[in-house]
Amino acid sequence: MPTDHRNYVNGEWVDSESGDVFEVRNPANADEVVGRFQDSTPADVEAAVDAAVEAQSDWGGLPGPERGRILRRTSAVLEERKEEATETLVREEGKTRSEAAGEVQRAVDIFAYYAQKARDVGGVVKSPSGQNSGLSTRREPLGTVGLITPWNYPIAIPAWKLAPALATGNTAVLKPASAAPTVAEILFECLDEAGLPDGAANMVTGSGSRVGTPLIEHDAIDGVSFTGSTGVGTQVARTAATDLKRVQCEMGGKNPTVVMPSADVDEAVDVVGTGAFGTTGQSCTAASRAIVHEDVYDEFVDAMVEYAESIEVGPGLEDPDVGPHVSESELESTLEYVDVGQSEGATLETGGAELTEGVYADGYYVEPAVFSDVDPDMRIAQEEIFGPVLSIVRASDFEDALRTANDVEYGLSASIVTQDVTEAEQFLDRIEAGVAKVNEKTTGLELHVPFGGYKDSSTNTYREQGDAGIDFFTATKTVYRNY
Ligand code: NAD
Repeated sequence: MPTDHRNYVNGEWVDSESGDVFEVRNPANADEVVGRFQDSTPADVEAAVDAAVEAQSDWGGLPGPERGRILRRTSAVLEERKEEATETLVREEGKTRSEAAGEVQRAVDIFAYYAQKARDVGGVVKSPSGQNSGLSTRREPLGTVGLITPWNYPIAIPAWKLAPALATGNTAVLKPASAAPTVAEILFECLDEAGLPDGAANMVTGSGSRVGTPLIEHDAIDGVSFTGSTGVGTQVARTAATDLKRVQCEMGGKNPTVVMPSADVDEAVDVVGTGAFGTTGQSCTAASRAIVHEDVYDEFVDAMVEYAESIEVGPGLEDPDVGPHVSESELESTLEYVDVGQSEGATLETGGAELTEGVYADGYYVEPAVFSDVDPDMRIAQEEIFGPVLSIVRASDFEDALRTANDVEYGLSASIVTQDVTEAEQFLDRIEAGVAKVNEKTTGLELHVPFGGYKDSSTNTYREQGDAGIDFFTATKTVYRNY
């Protein structure tokens, strides 16, 4: 029997005033209902924001180390529940067991990291121009913030927004993505068990229009941190900016890996393949384009096809290489792009078919797909696909490769595989991406460095994680003292 889940408002688990619920199904077996969630309304958002506003001065007034203690306990409680959270994440989002365990561990580590950071939310002291005076800055919480998150990292992203928001003394209302809300709920159970005061963090589930929009439009919300698609994020940024709210939106990607002739082709295939097909290609930083020098192009394509055909696709709980898509609509979108690529004249070297027999019968599975002969201006080379589809583009030289790499609207992550130091440094200097890597896959970023995109991948206002998380959630006050 699926469990019914509730909103978390003012320290209580409550039903929506709508009386309606929506279902989440297991993407590996759509017959299985994982849970039923509150289909909330603007009135539920209002109640959550009221609770958060009410709680803010007490929470923000606690000494940083006290807030840090609660975050550290949250990390510890989540670590104790790691197995359960991992399995839940697999069942609702479809990730493989290893990917899910890595993501839950990321959430554990993020709370531990910001628990420590809560001690360091200070300011700087500067030399004053006058005598007998002081000049310094201090960081203060924004107030109450609205957090909106996507389904593809449904515990890590709520964690990397909630932890710095709370560490710095803000109170928060989170709207998780409807495809995978259970693991965000686990996070709130951990915060509750760790002793978070009522109202400091609240969670309301439901649709973007009935929960997300009222949240970002609410007068009492001082900052909005959104992660999701560029289409929705652009709207969120516009709405929030109308009210002069602080806003950050981290959005889509079309991430390239450039492969140069000095690269070891097997290493390049591994770098591209793990970046392209890991998490079923459903990462914002997934390698979606391999831009390969013509001297190694044919060799790379052959080896990439072999790699893709060796990938084991299956239910995440069995820990294969690649799990299902999160939903039928995401599967349909990937299949549509496979058709688009073929109709544009690219060569489908392997994969791209829906898997429907046996263990695949009730899930959203597709064979990892590799396209060659992709022109840089084809839709499959320009648009975010969010599935296990790799487009291989031929480049005549380094300049051509770099031009192609930069010739998209997005600029999230990018990498180059080369043994040539000059090429590597030129790439790092000139690639238009918020994350740039040499001889590494485009996916994956450590939690203590800033994360965010260039161009249409981000509002480019603030970064997330590391010290950047503290920057977004605090305002700087400049203080003069005369004595
Ligand atoms: P999405 O934009 O459809 O939804 C994101 C969140 O916004 C969800 O909670 C959704 O319910 C909510 N939402 C939808 N409409 C809204 C509205 N009008 N007002 C307010 N909120 C609204 O994205 P998704 O499908 O959940 O996630 C996939 C996308 O997220 C991809 O484009 C991916 O690249 C991106 N992403 C980016 C990063 C990053 O850090 N750059 C990380 C993960 C995912």
